[in-house]
Amino acid sequence: MEIPRHWRLRQQRYGLVGETCPHCDAKLFPPRDVCPHCGGEAKHPYTFKGHGTVYSYTVMHDVPAGFEEQSPYTVALVKLDEGPLVTAQLTDLGQEPVEIGMPVEMVTRKIRSDGSGRGMLVYGYKFRPVLK
Ligand SMILES: [Zn+2]
Repeated sequence: MEIPRHWRLRQQRYGLVGETCPHCDAKLFPPRDVCPHCGGEAKHPYTFKGHGTVYSYTVMHDVPAGFEEQSPYTVALVKLDEGPLVTAQLTDLGQEPVEIGMPVEMVTRKIRSDGSGRGMLVYGYKFRPVLK
């Protein structure tokens, strides 16, 4: 019973996998098995393309333990091309100012160092500006 659950968590961490509703074709993220649009059962996995635009963002100066080396960092609400909003850290910003409506794409990056001192790194998805 543990394996499918673990697999599912891994899918969420390394790719943007949600669900698609067979009744109204809505794309859901995160996966919730019930479509919020029509109330139907939605259990078909759907991998998002990982493209979207910045819907809103916040610069975080007061960072939680394990994130210090990345301070300050920017967390954005990204509106995916398929519709859902996803919260993620922005990366590779360089000198470019973050703007509402800026096109971004998903990348897999180090999220934080494990605070235990064992040097374990935790990876996950972030978004970066689409290179012109
Ligand atoms: Zn639906």
